[in-house]
Amino acid sequence: MCYNVIDGRSHKSCGHFVALATRRQDCLRPDCLFSRRHMHVGQCRSASCIRLMSPPALNPIRESPTRCPQCVMVARVGYP
Ligand SMILES: [Zn+2]
Ligand SMILES: [Zn+2]
Ligand SMILES: [Zn+2]
Repeated sequence: MCYNVIDGRSHKSCGHFVALATRRQDCLRPDCLFSRRHMHVGQCRSASCIRLMSPPALNPIRESPTRCPQCVMVARVGYP
């Protein structure tokens, strides 16, 4: 199954993950609706084709020892 890979920054202080870029990992299966190798052109009517994508994979390309911008903001104004 295809899935999205989310490149981002992992914040050690709060444990949050800030997405920077998303890319598609293609499973290259001819029976997968999301693959560019999908065998059906246009509307797919086959019940055997995979119609779901796997949950996205988080790929921390950077690590930051600080809190994420969202948490910094919450700490500053006192509410989310
Ligand atoms: Zn796929
Ligand atoms: Zn199909
Ligand atoms: Zn945070």
